[in-house]
Amino acid sequence: MFAGEPIRERRPQFWQVAKRCCQIAATVDVAFFFLFHLLGSPILAWVNVLSVTMYVVAYRALGRKQNGLAITLIWSEVIIHAGLGVVLIGWDSGFHYYLLIFIPALFVSMRLQGAVVALAGLWGYYVALYLLMWFIEPLQPIAPGALLGVFLFNLSVVFAMFSYLSFFYLTMVTSANRKLRRMATTDSLTGLFNRRHMTYLVEKELARFQRNGHPVAFLVLDIDHFKAINDEHGHETGDRVLEDVADIIRAQFRTQDLTARWGGEEFLAVLPDTGLHRAQASAERVRQALLAHDWLAPNGDSIDITISAGVSEFRGDDDLNSAINRADRALYRSKELGRNRVELEVV
Ligand code: GH3
Ligand code: MG
Ligand code: MG
Repeated sequence: MFAGEPIRERRPQFWQVAKRCCQIAATVDVAFFFLFHLLGSPILAWVNVLSVTMYVVAYRALGRKQNGLAITLIWSEVIIHAGLGVVLIGWDSGFHYYLLIFIPALFVSMRLQGAVVALAGLWGYYVALYLLMWFIEPLQPIAPGALLGVFLFNLSVVFAMFSYLSFFYLTMVTSANRKLRRMATTDSLTGLFNRRHMTYLVEKELARFQRNGHPVAFLVLDIDHFKAINDEHGHETGDRVLEDVADIIRAQFRTQDLTARWGGEEFLAVLPDTGLHRAQASAERVRQALLAHDWLAPNGDSIDITISAGVSEFRGDDDLNSAINRADRALYRSKELGRNRVELEVV
């Protein structure tokens, strides 16, 4: 009976990205195993077997949510592999580029102080490797053509990984922004605009109205005897009713109409380009739709849900409050006259 599926986040999670990185890295390492055998660098070839093992363990650790273990394994693998690659076949192999991928990852995943310390360590390691290769020759050099091939391959993989990570960070920031905006502008229970955002939107709408002189209608809708529904069926059921009433209200209005949860069980709709009588018809539609809905409590009992409404039309000398106050007075009249009805402001 009650609608309201939670909205699921579609952005990739940290562990999904880390798992994907493990898959990519392990695949690259399997390719390296054969490549370095062919190129005559057996030590580097066998290092890849160790690497693949570490990635497989890290991947499974991520699956079990042991993120700390996984990150330690990935870090160690990259540091050792980059170091060995450089020492064995030379700086021009480009193995050191893999270390750079950690720079953005560090800042995203650690506290600032920790990231700075780790970054300093990474920088020291990078410089030390470079200086070392300045003084020694590669231990297992390969043919210049093969070295060029390895360099281009490593460079391309690093480009691809940076692109993937940047895309992930962008998605993460955009999604967080969207979530924050939604939280700041909507009511979390009903998904309708909250009072603060509605005030902002309506004030903008009224400025437009004052320029072009089109009518704007205000509807205040209030659920009847809602306290009794809470008392009888519990607050949870009350909440579900509020969600469904909001859905029904939303469904009855046009896209250009603004609807908000104005108070506890009170809703405000502002209808641009709509006069008093068309607004009355809209409120009447909402009232009928609520009557037509089958309201059942979790225990199967039927619940009577009705709504009373007051309607006003914006006037030249109005502001937001005075227009809403007149709709409110009409609403009180609906309540006094027996509820489950729509009353117009007294002109
Ligand atoms: P009337 O017909 O005169 O409007 O009677 P009423 O009982 O609807 O009005 P009243 O103002 O006495 O009570 C409103 C009730 O709405 C009281 C409050 O507990 C309930 N309420 C407000 N916000 C929420 C909410 O978010 N969830 C639930 N479950 N109840 C709420
Ligand atoms: Mg009420
Ligand atoms: Mg009320």
